[in-house]
Amino acid sequence: MDLNYDIAIIGLGPAGLQAGIHAGRRKNKVIIFGKTSESALWQAHLENYFGFEEKVEGKELLSAGIKQLKKIGVTIVEEDIIKIEPLEKGFKLITEKEKEFTALALILAMGIKRKKAFFKNEKKFIGKGVSYCVDCDAWFYKGKKVVVIGNGSSAIWGAKFLTQFAEEVYFYYFSKEEIPSEEKKSFEEKGIKILTLKPIEIVGEDEVKGIKLEDGSILKVDGIFIEQGAKGSLELLVSLGVEFDLETFNYVKVDKNMKTNVDGIFACGDITGPPLQVAKAVGEGCIAGLSASDYVSKIKGEN
Ligand SMILES: Cc1cc2nc3c(=O)[nH]c(=O)nc-3n(C[C@H](O)[C@H](O)[C@H](O)COP(=O)(O)OP(=O)(O)OC[C@H]3O[C@@H](n4cnc5c(N)ncnc54)[C@H](O)[C@@H]3O)c2cc1C
Repeated sequence: MDLNYDIAIIGLGPAGLQAGIHAGRRKNKVIIFGKTSESALWQAHLENYFGFEEKVEGKELLSAGIKQLKKIGVTIVEEDIIKIEPLEKGFKLITEKEKEFTALALILAMGIKRKKAFFKNEKKFIGKGVSYCVDCDAWFYKGKKVVVIGNGSSAIWGAKFLTQFAEEVYFYYFSKEEIPSEEKKSFEEKGIKILTLKPIEIVGEDEVKGIKLEDGSILKVDGIFIEQGAKGSLELLVSLGVEFDLETFNYVKVDKNMKTNVDGIFACGDITGPPLQVAKAVGEGCIAGLSASDYVSKIKGEN
């Protein structure tokens, strides 16, 4: 596989798929990363989308979109991006399986994370031992004991990253799927201990002291990292200097051409804020795909 592309899109939901369709049809070399099963649309039944008089399953729309992308010749990589680095010209993207790709322009279509509290006392200890961002908080746990609880690539990556700081790292995977066998091996090499008993409650007074497991025993830890799904926009984008809305700090700021404040980076879909709807994601995806194509043509000196 050639590793250098004109446009890289992060996100296999409606925004990313539509951006891919428009950018691909402009004859760019386009690559798209993500998992359709992680799209918010995967769980949805649409009744308010143009052209579908009867209810349509989100899954059906997504698989039709994938077929369309393949037909256009867009490269699809069903992996999460865990790191983005700026280059002199363009960006380097690193996947959860440590594959590296480069692209001249980047379209962010990662949707939003819908966070839920899982444990008794979780909210009480946010910032007092409970963290949702390994990148942001690993530093504070130098020489301490931590547990990473979660699923998907962000949890696996987070546990491995924390071994550079914490003295002991425990891991609980709350997925229906098994931890991939190659990851189990690298956990062993890094001394990460996999918990088999389910954590149920966070214990402590002013700060976290440990986590209660389903058999009633308490695992003493100083920090609890809760990591779900893929790395979210905040974790991936802060170091690139991408601006977020100042009110909620949840959404990427864009102009009417879906450009962010960083040259060569565009965004579309739920990641740019409400209304969190497929119609809006698709419309913005179209604009982002075309704007990124114009940008690439310009830097290649084609117009
Ligand atoms: C239960 C439910 C019902 C809904 N019902 C409706 C409805 O009736 N009508 C309507 O219009 N909307 C509905 N929605 C909202 C709609 O699904 C979203 O607005 C839409 O899916 C947003 O599209 P998106 O492409 O921006 O993000 P998403 O569809 O969420 O896609 C995000 C993509 O980004 C990928 N991704 C994230 N992080 C990374 C990373 N680090 N690396 C690589 N890939 C990454 C994910 O794998 C995923 O493929 C519903 C949502 C839910 C949850």
